[in-house]
Amino acid sequence: MQCMRCSRELDEFDIGCHLKLIHRGATAFLCRECIAKDIGWTREEMDRAIRRFQEQGCRLFPPLREAEP
Ligand SMILES: [Zn+2]
Repeated sequence: MQCMRCSRELDEFDIGCHLKLIHRGATAFLCRECIAKDIGWTREEMDRAIRRFQEQGCRLFPPLREAEP
């Protein structure tokens, strides 16, 4: 699946961000670059938010691996 705006190949984080931040019932997705631009976040803020969602156990994102700090 590709970003509906820039055609970048999407990964599970892009899709998780779209479902979490844009629209829970989405069937077409933006990559997290495009989402960050839309909501006025930097990529760094986006990465931090993703990390926070993972720490909260949000099931829209892959679980944090125990080996990671
Ligand atoms: Zn995009």
